[in-house]
Amino acid sequence: MKPYSSARDEYSGSASVFLDANENPFNDPLNRYPDPQQTLLKQRIAKLKGLPEAYVFLGNGSDEGIDLLFRVLCEPGRDHVITVDPSYGMYAVCAEMNNVERRSVLLKSDFSLDPDAVLAAVDEDTSLIFLCSPNNPTSNSLEREAMVKIIDGVNCMVVVDEAYIDFSKGPGLLSMLQEKKNLVILQTLSKAWGLAGIRLGMLFAHPELLAYISRVKYPYNISGLTIEAALRGLDDIEQKDKWIKEILEQRSKMATELESLPYVRRVYASDANFLLIKVDDPSAVYEFLMNKGIIIRDRSSVPLCEGCLRITVGTGEENRDLLSALKIFQP
Ligand code: PMP
Repeated sequence: MKPYSSARDEYSGSASVFLDANENPFNDPLNRYPDPQQTLLKQRIAKLKGLPEAYVFLGNGSDEGIDLLFRVLCEPGRDHVITVDPSYGMYAVCAEMNNVERRSVLLKSDFSLDPDAVLAAVDEDTSLIFLCSPNNPTSNSLEREAMVKIIDGVNCMVVVDEAYIDFSKGPGLLSMLQEKKNLVILQTLSKAWGLAGIRLGMLFAHPELLAYISRVKYPYNISGLTIEAALRGLDDIEQKDKWIKEILEQRSKMATELESLPYVRRVYASDANFLLIKVDDPSAVYEFLMNKGIIIRDRSSVPLCEGCLRITVGTGEENRDLLSALKIFQP
Protein backbone atom coordinates (compact mmCIF):
# COMPACT_ATOMS: atom_id res chain seq x y z
CA MET A 1 0.00 0.00 0.00
CA LYS A 2 0.98 3.59 -0.52
CA PRO A 3 1.10 5.29 2.90
CA TYR A 4 -0.39 8.71 3.61
CA SER A 5 2.27 11.28 3.00
CA SER A 6 1.98 14.23 5.35
CA ALA A 7 3.23 17.70 4.56
CA ARG A 8 5.99 17.29 7.13
CA ASP A 9 7.09 13.97 5.63
CA GLU A 10 7.94 15.63 2.34
CA TYR A 11 10.09 18.38 3.78
CA SER A 12 13.52 18.08 5.32
CA GLY A 13 16.08 20.80 5.84
CA SER A 14 15.63 24.34 7.09
CA ALA A 15 12.68 26.57 6.30
CA SER A 16 11.11 29.48 8.11
CA VAL A 17 7.70 29.88 6.49
CA PHE A 18 5.34 26.93 6.81
CA LEU A 19 2.25 27.30 4.64
CA ASP A 20 1.96 23.64 3.71
CA ALA A 21 -0.24 21.96 6.31
CA ASN A 22 -3.27 24.25 6.76
CA GLU A 23 -2.24 25.03 10.31
CA ASN A 24 -3.27 28.15 12.22
CA PRO A 25 -0.27 30.52 12.04
CA PHE A 26 -0.96 31.65 15.65
CA ASN A 27 -0.50 29.88 19.01
CA ASP A 28 3.10 28.76 18.55
CA PRO A 29 4.23 26.01 19.15
CA LEU A 30 1.00 24.03 19.64
CA ASN A 31 -0.37 25.22 16.29
CA ARG A 32 2.11 22.97 14.45
CA TYR A 33 1.75 19.30 13.60
CA PRO A 34 4.41 17.22 15.35
CA ASP A 35 7.20 15.39 13.55
CA PRO A 36 5.43 12.31 12.05
CA GLN A 37 8.65 10.28 12.34
CA GLN A 38 9.61 11.53 15.84
CA THR A 39 13.22 11.66 14.64
CA LEU A 40 14.77 13.39 17.64
CA LEU A 41 13.02 11.20 20.20
CA LYS A 42 13.90 8.03 18.29
CA GLN A 43 17.56 9.11 18.20
CA ARG A 44 17.52 9.65 21.95
CA ILE A 45 15.86 6.29 22.66
CA ALA A 46 18.13 4.42 20.22
CA LYS A 47 21.19 5.83 21.97
CA LEU A 48 19.82 4.97 25.39
CA LYS A 49 19.05 1.39 24.33
CA GLY A 50 22.26 0.88 22.29
CA LEU A 51 20.35 0.21 19.06
CA PRO A 52 20.46 1.70 15.56
CA GLU A 53 17.59 4.19 15.07
CA ALA A 54 16.12 2.03 12.33
CA TYR A 55 15.17 -0.55 14.99
CA VAL A 56 12.94 1.89 16.93
CA PHE A 57 9.20 2.49 16.43
CA LEU A 58 7.17 4.69 18.77
CA GLY A 59 3.48 4.25 19.50
CA ASN A 60 0.65 5.75 21.55
CA GLY A 61 1.55 3.41 24.42
CA SER A 62 2.66 -0.18 23.86
CA ASP A 63 -1.00 -0.80 23.12
CA GLU A 64 -0.71 0.90 19.73
CA GLY A 65 2.30 -1.29 18.91
CA ILE A 66 0.34 -4.43 19.85
CA ASP A 67 -2.60 -3.42 17.63
CA LEU A 68 -0.34 -2.51 14.70
CA LEU A 69 1.36 -5.93 14.89
CA PHE A 70 -2.04 -7.55 14.38
CA ARG A 71 -2.99 -5.21 11.56
CA VAL A 72 0.29 -5.65 9.72
CA LEU A 73 1.11 -9.31 10.33
CA CYS A 74 -2.21 -11.15 10.57
CA GLU A 75 -4.69 -12.05 7.86
CA PRO A 76 -8.09 -11.86 9.63
CA GLY A 77 -10.08 -15.09 9.53
CA ARG A 78 -7.08 -17.12 8.42
CA ASP A 79 -4.04 -16.56 10.65
CA HIS A 80 -3.90 -17.09 14.37
CA VAL A 81 -1.76 -15.85 17.23
CA ILE A 82 -0.59 -17.63 20.36
CA THR A 83 -0.72 -16.08 23.81
CA VAL A 84 0.81 -17.65 26.89
CA ASP A 85 -1.66 -17.21 29.71
CA PRO A 86 -2.41 -15.75 32.12
CA SER A 87 -0.99 -12.55 30.68
CA TYR A 88 -1.69 -8.96 29.70
CA GLY A 89 -5.28 -8.58 28.48
CA MET A 90 -4.67 -6.41 25.42
CA TYR A 91 -3.26 -9.27 23.33
CA ALA A 92 -6.67 -10.97 23.50
CA VAL A 93 -8.60 -7.72 22.99
CA CYS A 94 -6.56 -6.80 19.91
CA ALA A 95 -6.97 -10.32 18.51
CA GLU A 96 -10.76 -10.04 18.82
CA MET A 97 -10.82 -6.50 17.48
CA ASN A 98 -8.90 -7.61 14.42
CA ASN A 99 -10.90 -10.84 13.90
CA VAL A 100 -7.81 -12.96 14.45
CA GLU A 101 -8.10 -16.33 16.19
CA ARG A 102 -6.13 -16.66 19.43
CA ARG A 103 -4.77 -19.91 20.75
CA SER A 104 -3.98 -19.90 24.43
CA VAL A 105 -1.17 -21.98 25.93
CA LEU A 106 -1.04 -21.98 29.72
CA LEU A 107 2.06 -21.29 31.76
CA LYS A 108 3.06 -24.18 34.02
CA SER A 109 1.48 -24.15 37.49
CA ASP A 110 4.63 -22.46 38.89
CA PHE A 111 4.12 -19.73 36.21
CA SER A 112 7.18 -20.83 34.23
CA LEU A 113 7.11 -21.00 30.43
CA ASP A 114 6.75 -24.38 28.72
CA PRO A 115 8.49 -23.81 25.36
CA ASP A 116 7.54 -27.24 24.02
CA ALA A 117 3.84 -26.60 24.68
CA VAL A 118 4.10 -23.33 22.76
CA LEU A 119 5.99 -24.94 19.88
CA ALA A 120 3.39 -27.72 19.72
CA ALA A 121 0.65 -25.12 19.16
CA VAL A 122 2.46 -23.53 16.20
CA ASP A 123 1.52 -24.33 12.59
CA GLU A 124 1.92 -22.60 9.21
CA ASP A 125 -0.88 -20.12 10.01
CA THR A 126 0.67 -18.88 13.25
CA SER A 127 1.66 -15.29 12.67
CA LEU A 128 2.50 -14.00 16.14
CA ILE A 129 3.44 -15.39 19.54
CA PHE A 130 3.15 -13.14 22.59
CA LEU A 131 5.45 -13.63 25.58
CA CYS A 132 5.43 -11.18 28.48
CA SER A 133 8.50 -11.00 30.71
CA PRO A 134 8.24 -10.03 33.52
CA ASN A 135 4.71 -11.29 33.13
CA ASN A 136 1.56 -9.47 34.13
CA PRO A 137 -0.20 -10.60 36.36
CA THR A 138 2.08 -13.41 37.62
CA SER A 139 5.00 -10.97 38.25
CA ASN A 140 7.79 -13.45 37.36
CA SER A 141 10.26 -13.22 34.49
CA LEU A 142 10.10 -16.00 31.93
CA GLU A 143 13.19 -18.14 31.59
CA ARG A 144 15.57 -16.72 28.98
CA GLU A 145 16.49 -20.12 27.47
CA ALA A 146 12.84 -21.06 27.14
CA MET A 147 12.07 -17.82 25.27
CA VAL A 148 15.07 -18.29 22.98
CA LYS A 149 13.99 -21.87 22.25
CA ILE A 150 10.67 -20.51 20.97
CA ILE A 151 12.23 -17.64 18.99
CA ASP A 152 14.71 -20.02 17.35
CA GLY A 153 12.11 -22.73 16.78
CA VAL A 154 9.56 -20.79 14.71
CA ASN A 155 9.29 -18.82 11.47
CA CYS A 156 6.69 -16.37 12.75
CA MET A 157 7.32 -13.24 14.80
CA VAL A 158 7.74 -13.56 18.56
CA VAL A 159 6.80 -10.52 20.63
CA VAL A 160 8.41 -10.20 24.03
CA ASP A 161 6.61 -7.57 26.10
CA GLU A 162 9.15 -6.06 28.50
CA ALA A 163 6.93 -3.36 30.02
CA TYR A 164 8.30 -4.22 33.50
CA ILE A 165 11.90 -5.02 32.55
CA ASP A 166 13.39 -2.11 34.56
CA PHE A 167 12.19 -3.72 37.80
CA SER A 168 13.66 -7.09 36.97
CA LYS A 169 16.96 -8.70 37.92
CA GLY A 170 17.63 -9.87 34.35
CA PRO A 171 18.66 -7.74 31.38
CA GLY A 172 15.89 -8.78 28.95
CA LEU A 173 16.37 -9.74 25.32
CA LEU A 174 17.25 -6.38 23.74
CA SER A 175 20.86 -7.43 23.14
CA MET A 176 19.61 -10.26 20.87
CA LEU A 177 17.43 -8.08 18.70
CA GLN A 178 19.84 -7.54 15.83
CA GLU A 179 20.70 -11.22 15.48
CA LYS A 180 17.12 -12.52 15.68
CA LYS A 181 15.05 -11.18 12.82
CA ASN A 182 11.76 -12.60 14.13
CA LEU A 183 12.03 -10.94 17.55
CA VAL A 184 9.93 -7.91 18.50
CA ILE A 185 10.45 -6.26 21.89
CA LEU A 186 7.93 -3.93 23.53
CA GLN A 187 8.95 -1.49 26.23
CA THR A 188 7.20 1.59 27.60
CA LEU A 189 7.69 4.87 29.43
CA SER A 190 4.56 4.07 31.47
CA LYS A 191 6.21 2.16 34.31
CA ALA A 192 9.78 2.85 35.51
CA TRP A 193 9.90 6.26 33.81
CA GLY A 194 6.70 7.41 35.53
CA LEU A 195 5.10 8.68 32.32
CA ALA A 196 1.94 6.60 31.80
CA GLY A 197 0.01 9.83 31.24
CA ILE A 198 1.88 10.85 28.10
CA ARG A 199 1.32 7.48 26.31
CA LEU A 200 4.64 6.48 24.83
CA GLY A 201 5.38 2.88 23.94
CA MET A 202 8.52 1.63 22.24
CA LEU A 203 8.54 -1.23 19.76
CA PHE A 204 11.98 -2.54 18.82
CA ALA A 205 12.26 -4.78 15.77
CA HIS A 206 14.02 -5.39 12.46
CA PRO A 207 13.77 -2.33 10.14
CA GLU A 208 11.96 -4.37 7.46
CA LEU A 209 9.02 -4.98 9.81
CA LEU A 210 9.11 -1.39 11.08
CA ALA A 211 8.84 -0.10 7.51
CA TYR A 212 5.47 -1.89 7.18
CA ILE A 213 4.26 -0.77 10.60
CA SER A 214 5.19 2.83 9.83
CA ARG A 215 3.04 2.76 6.69
CA VAL A 216 -0.03 1.70 8.65
CA LYS A 217 0.25 3.97 11.70
CA TYR A 218 -1.70 7.24 11.87
CA PRO A 219 0.43 10.04 10.42
CA TYR A 220 0.91 11.99 13.66
CA ASN A 221 0.50 9.19 16.19
CA ILE A 222 2.69 10.81 18.85
CA SER A 223 1.64 14.29 19.98
CA GLY A 224 4.04 17.20 20.28
CA LEU A 225 3.36 17.39 24.02
CA THR A 226 4.27 13.72 24.39
CA ILE A 227 7.49 14.12 22.43
CA GLU A 228 8.49 17.09 24.59
CA ALA A 229 7.64 15.38 27.89
CA ALA A 230 9.40 12.18 26.83
CA LEU A 231 12.60 14.05 25.90
CA ARG A 232 12.52 15.82 29.26
CA GLY A 233 11.88 12.57 31.16
CA LEU A 234 14.63 10.69 29.34
CA ASP A 235 17.11 13.43 30.29
CA ASP A 236 16.81 12.44 33.93
CA ILE A 237 18.02 8.86 34.13
CA GLU A 238 19.08 9.42 37.73
CA GLN A 239 15.52 10.22 38.75
CA LYS A 240 14.22 7.08 37.05
CA ASP A 241 16.88 4.97 38.79
CA LYS A 242 15.97 6.49 42.17
CA TRP A 243 12.31 5.63 41.60
CA ILE A 244 13.20 2.05 40.68
CA LYS A 245 15.35 1.67 43.79
CA GLU A 246 12.62 3.06 46.03
CA ILE A 247 9.94 0.86 44.41
CA LEU A 248 12.11 -2.26 44.80
CA GLU A 249 12.74 -1.46 48.47
CA GLN A 250 9.04 -0.92 49.03
CA ARG A 251 8.26 -4.13 47.16
CA SER A 252 10.36 -6.27 49.45
CA LYS A 253 9.04 -4.54 52.59
CA MET A 254 5.48 -5.01 51.41
CA ALA A 255 6.09 -8.67 50.55
CA THR A 256 7.40 -9.39 54.06
CA GLU A 257 4.45 -7.66 55.74
CA LEU A 258 1.88 -9.32 53.49
CA GLU A 259 3.37 -12.73 54.25
CA SER A 260 2.73 -12.19 57.95
CA LEU A 261 -1.04 -11.77 57.48
CA PRO A 262 -2.92 -14.91 58.58
CA TYR A 263 -5.23 -15.09 55.53
CA VAL A 264 -2.43 -14.57 52.99
CA ARG A 265 -1.50 -18.01 51.67
CA ARG A 266 1.27 -16.91 49.37
CA VAL A 267 3.18 -13.88 48.11
CA TYR A 268 4.69 -14.76 44.74
CA ALA A 269 8.29 -13.69 44.03
CA SER A 270 8.08 -10.54 41.90
CA ASP A 271 10.33 -9.18 39.19
CA ALA A 272 7.94 -6.27 38.50
CA ASN A 273 6.45 -3.24 40.30
CA PHE A 274 3.52 -5.24 41.65
CA LEU A 275 2.88 -8.26 43.85
CA LEU A 276 0.60 -11.18 43.21
CA ILE A 277 -0.77 -12.67 46.42
CA LYS A 278 -3.02 -15.64 47.11
CA VAL A 279 -5.61 -15.17 49.84
CA ASP A 280 -8.48 -17.20 51.32
CA ASP A 281 -11.32 -14.97 50.10
CA PRO A 282 -10.10 -12.59 47.36
CA SER A 283 -13.39 -10.82 46.67
CA ALA A 284 -13.93 -10.09 50.38
CA VAL A 285 -10.45 -8.54 50.64
CA TYR A 286 -10.94 -6.63 47.40
CA GLU A 287 -14.28 -5.17 48.49
CA PHE A 288 -13.06 -4.38 52.00
CA LEU A 289 -10.18 -2.35 50.52
CA MET A 290 -12.42 -0.68 47.97
CA ASN A 291 -14.71 0.53 50.76
CA LYS A 292 -11.66 2.11 52.34
CA GLY A 293 -10.80 3.87 49.07
CA ILE A 294 -7.92 1.54 48.23
CA ILE A 295 -8.13 0.00 44.79
CA ILE A 296 -6.25 -3.16 43.86
CA ARG A 297 -6.90 -5.72 41.13
CA ASP A 298 -8.85 -8.94 41.66
CA ARG A 299 -7.26 -11.54 39.38
CA SER A 300 -8.96 -14.55 40.97
CA SER A 301 -10.99 -15.41 37.87
CA VAL A 302 -7.88 -15.65 35.68
CA PRO A 303 -6.60 -19.18 34.88
CA LEU A 304 -3.90 -20.38 37.35
CA CYS A 305 -4.59 -17.35 39.57
CA GLU A 306 -7.43 -18.72 41.72
CA GLY A 307 -7.57 -16.73 44.96
CA CYS A 308 -5.13 -14.12 43.63
CA LEU A 309 -5.02 -10.36 44.01
CA ARG A 310 -2.58 -8.08 42.22
CA ILE A 311 -1.25 -5.09 44.14
CA THR A 312 0.84 -2.33 42.61
CA VAL A 313 3.73 -1.08 44.77
CA GLY A 314 2.92 2.52 45.68
CA THR A 315 4.70 5.16 47.74
CA GLY A 316 5.74 4.30 51.31
CA GLU A 317 2.68 6.12 52.58
CA GLU A 318 0.25 4.40 50.21
CA ASN A 319 1.68 1.00 51.07
CA ARG A 320 1.38 1.76 54.80
CA ASP A 321 -2.30 2.67 54.28
CA LEU A 322 -2.84 -0.59 52.41
CA LEU A 323 -1.15 -2.67 55.10
CA SER A 324 -2.94 -0.91 57.99
CA ALA A 325 -6.24 -1.68 56.27
CA LEU A 326 -5.28 -5.31 55.62
CA LYS A 327 -4.27 -5.77 59.25
CA ILE A 328 -7.79 -4.96 60.45
CA PHE A 329 -9.52 -7.08 57.81
CA GLN A 330 -11.51 -9.90 59.47
CA PRO A 331 -11.64 -12.96 57.22
N1 PMP B 1 2.35 -4.48 28.51
C1 PMP B 1 2.07 -4.93 29.73
C2 PMP B 1 2.56 -6.28 30.11
C3 PMP B 1 1.32 -4.17 30.62
O1 PMP B 1 1.02 -4.66 31.82
C4 PMP B 1 0.88 -2.89 30.23
C5 PMP B 1 0.05 -1.98 31.10
N2 PMP B 1 -0.50 -2.43 32.20
C6 PMP B 1 1.19 -2.46 28.95
C7 PMP B 1 1.94 -3.26 28.13
C8 PMP B 1 0.69 -1.15 28.44
O2 PMP B 1 1.68 -0.24 28.35
P1 PMP B 1 1.44 1.19 27.72
O3 PMP B 1 1.05 2.09 28.85
O4 PMP B 1 2.76 1.52 27.12
O5 PMP B 1 0.34 1.08 26.68
